[in-house]
Amino acid sequence: MVDIFVVRMIRAGLFALLLTTLAAFSPPSAQADPLPRERMAEIAMPTSLVKLSAKFGEGGSYWGGTPHSGLDFDGDTGAAIFAVADGIVREVSIRGTYGRTITINHGDGLASMYAHLSSTDVKAGDQVSAGDRIARMGATGKVSGSHLHLEIQVRGVPTDPYDFLLAANPGSASAPPAWACRMYGC
Ligand SMILES: [Zn+2]
Repeated sequence: MVDIFVVRMIRAGLFALLLTTLAAFSPPSAQADPLPRERMAEIAMPTSLVKLSAKFGEGGSYWGGTPHSGLDFDGDTGAAIFAVADGIVREVSIRGTYGRTITINHGDGLASMYAHLSSTDVKAGDQVSAGDRIARMGATGKVSGSHLHLEIQVRGVPTDPYDFLLAANPGSASAPPAWACRMYGC
């Protein structure tokens, strides 16, 4: 009996080794893969009083001639900022025009960055869950007033946060949810 068990264990081990070897030699696929749809639906709101004040992609001199790389939420200094998804804090730092920032890695190449913060409640390496308070809103960096600049990066490329928030907080392209009415029409 023991011998048969041992043989089975060895066979299972060889099979696992074979699978590992095959996986190692499969071509890289990360570059072209879209983000899994289920990841979009995990996104939580970064503030409780959602009042959008600038869209992703807006042009103008304010952003140095480049399109706006995030979505802005108006609010008072000190308002709570929440993690938009589960993840691990990658960086807490002061970054020029962004002011005080937090960046969180969410896996699958997805990251979120929160800018212009007045204070932070987390440090690099901390594990956070969607909805955890991570910071307070502020006006650090280049701003015209207190607000949150939320950036969603997919493999390092800024992507419209509205698409992620809409997927998790439903409405449709033709009928945006109430929280987005002022900026996206209703
Ligand atoms: Zn912004």
